[in-house]
Amino acid sequence: MALFKSLESQEDNKSQKIVNSEAEKVKCLIIGSGPAGYTAAIYAARANLSPLMYEGLEPGGQLTTTNDVENFPGYPEGVTGPVMMEELKAQAQRFGTDVRFGLATATDLSSRPFKVTIDGNKLIEAEVLIIATGATAKYLGLESEEKFKGQGVSACATCDGFFYKGKDVAVVGGGDTAAEEATYLAGICNKVYLIVRKDYLRASKVMVDRVMKTKNIEVLFEHTTKEIVGDMTGVNGVLLTNGKGEEVKKDIHGFFVAIGHKPNSDIFADYLETDEVGYIATEPGSTKTKVEGVFACGDVMDSEYRQAITAAGSGCKAAMDAERFLGAQL
Ligand code: NDP
Repeated sequence: MALFKSLESQEDNKSQKIVNSEAEKVKCLIIGSGPAGYTAAIYAARANLSPLMYEGLEPGGQLTTTNDVENFPGYPEGVTGPVMMEELKAQAQRFGTDVRFGLATATDLSSRPFKVTIDGNKLIEAEVLIIATGATAKYLGLESEEKFKGQGVSACATCDGFFYKGKDVAVVGGGDTAAEEATYLAGICNKVYLIVRKDYLRASKVMVDRVMKTKNIEVLFEHTTKEIVGDMTGVNGVLLTNGKGEEVKKDIHGFFVAIGHKPNSDIFADYLETDEVGYIATEPGSTKTKVEGVFACGDVMDSEYRQAITAAGSGCKAAMDAERFLGAQL
């Protein structure tokens, strides 16, 4: 018998059985509703695959936690993340995508049609499955961090760095992402504090060298973040604790968290190949996974670029791969 894992297993690793109810049968099921999922839906709907999409817990995905998106082609004046996601959703619905609120809680990908349980009580059987469940940026877990998300706290320098042009910012983390974000921000901002909890950077040597050679990056080794401070207008400082246990305050306007991402792939892990972090493996140059008829797109399979535009591009590929797969079955 197949094993089923719940999506809650992202947090607590509990197992959950697939629901035993009469299944709703669909040609194409899309799980996840960021730029990858909506783009897959637009293409699948226009290809007559009658896609059904479940949006997940955070309809619109990570972009709904960003303010302005200025790097997505086609919006010369920029657009807010939530508005862009609403527009993508409307475009997917215009071509007939059935978009529903609900969370995939269990899967059985051992044979076709694939079985997916929604919210623990509804069973969908799908001829093809497109996984666009994204990744979740890890945060420190501070209350003040939550309070200032989108108002100075961000997990994406490429997305939000420009808003802090000429200002002082901080990046927390010691890996390659933190090093990359810090050097990227150094090109835009006045000063970048890199907050590292250990006495060394875990990033690759080339990135460490780049950080150390960048004049406006100051690395604060053995510092941890105590609190992010600010007011109605957003973040204006960060309280740190140094290696001697002393409190240190830095005046900053942007606080970038770069302590890793967690791809939302746990419920597929029994069937699909993933790397050690959980990114779903796909055939090079395509969105095909190890299981024929299951395609993955967007941040759940991309540890490298993680941009809205690259996610949208891979969503398009997933729908085309799904259409070709179904065409070849006839
Ligand atoms: P990593 O897991 O490599 O690094 C996370 C960093 O965040 C570590 O320095 C860790 O500290 C720190 N950290 C974790 N939790 C906390 C916390 N609660 N408080 C403070 N610091 C914390 O994640 P990355 O996203 O940097 O990289 C993921 C993978 O992607 C790596 O394999 C990396 O090499 C790769 N990558 C490659 C790039 C490239 O080649 N261009 C670019 C970006 C990423 P500690 O060291 O103490 O554990």
